[in-house]
Amino acid sequence: MIQFADRMQNVVASEIREILKISNKPGVISFAGGLPARELFPIEEMKKVCTEMLSKEGANALQYDVTIGHLPLREKIAERMQNIYKIDCTAEDILITSGSQQGLEFTGKIFINSGDTVLCESPTYLGALNAFNVYGPNYIDVPTDHQGIIPEELEKILEKNSNVKFIYVIPDFQNPSGDSWSLERRKRFMEIVERYNIPVVEDNPYGDLRFEGEILPSLKSMDKKGLVIFLGTFSKIFCPGFRVGWVIANPEILEAFVKIKQGADLHTSSIGQREINTYLEMYSIDNHIAKIKDVYRNRRDAMMSAIDKYMPKGVSYNKPEGGMFLWLSLPENINSQVVFVEAVKRDVAFVPGTPFFAKNKKNNFLRMNFSAMPEDLIEEGVKRMAEVIKEQMK
Ligand code: PMP
Repeated sequence: MIQFADRMQNVVASEIREILKISNKPGVISFAGGLPARELFPIEEMKKVCTEMLSKEGANALQYDVTIGHLPLREKIAERMQNIYKIDCTAEDILITSGSQQGLEFTGKIFINSGDTVLCESPTYLGALNAFNVYGPNYIDVPTDHQGIIPEELEKILEKNSNVKFIYVIPDFQNPSGDSWSLERRKRFMEIVERYNIPVVEDNPYGDLRFEGEILPSLKSMDKKGLVIFLGTFSKIFCPGFRVGWVIANPEILEAFVKIKQGADLHTSSIGQREINTYLEMYSIDNHIAKIKDVYRNRRDAMMSAIDKYMPKGVSYNKPEGGMFLWLSLPENINSQVVFVEAVKRDVAFVPGTPFFAKNKKNNFLRMNFSAMPEDLIEEGVKRMAEVIKEQMK
């Protein structure tokens, strides 16, 4: 028998990856993955970018690099983060990671001793739970409504628990719920965590994908005590294949991330970082994001109208103002995993909501991705899902 480390007992295969295997079958209408629309990837532009970048950078693009990341790219990220999220930062405050998923993994490694308490929204991003689980945390999910974490509930939990290592949150177009925190909630949340001195992981892959309304200030922009660790990424606003994300944190915390990254992978791909940097010099990423938003807004609208048209009474959702997901609430006696099994028989897939709850599992929710399918297939897929749900409700 091969003896693995004890921590492997905490590791289970990601349920989404298993579901993606089923939903990747040809002919399946899939609302399951969190995939950006592949037809929007800037392939022609990237051909020019790669040629230009290799002529300019030569061997540097193919050589080992510094752990913290390519300086010109970090400078450009710092400028964007100041402009969009009002974060007071420079390149010095930024570490490039291999996707924001690596930022999550490092957070677990840096903060969690087995048995430590980690707070999160209810529901929360399953991929973060998978990253943290390796280190054996004890989760408390904080009651959350469409406006974000409920401050009074957070306060009650913090009063009772002294061993909270950090709070993990996604205040903008959350995965899976699609909800965004109100300004009022952001302010109250920061006031509480500052009073209790609790580090906060603010994961923000979707914030730039706002279809309507104004971008709200990030938690990091309100961070007076250096408690917030902000995670960003090019995955959803550009292309996930690069695996380029970033961490913004106070110097003490950032140093811990840099040390851990040295041991993990030395640095994020030199060539990938330079490709993105050169793209940012040659083209406008804001124009690219505007194109993505137009497409996703139409797809979201198509999904909402199809739900309104086909789904039975008792099924509800909250309109997401951006991002890539819609969170469907079913009547309490309907199990989304059973709906999934039946839906797959009709060649339509989504992700059952249960694994997105860290502790108090609820079975009557499901996550639908609207970014990756064209509008006609969205309508057809929702129609098939509605038939299955109606059958289950009988
Ligand atoms: N955080 C959240 C909330 C996500 O939805 C995702 C991707 N699905 C990630 C982090 C990881 O993104 P990446 O590693 O591609 O930057």
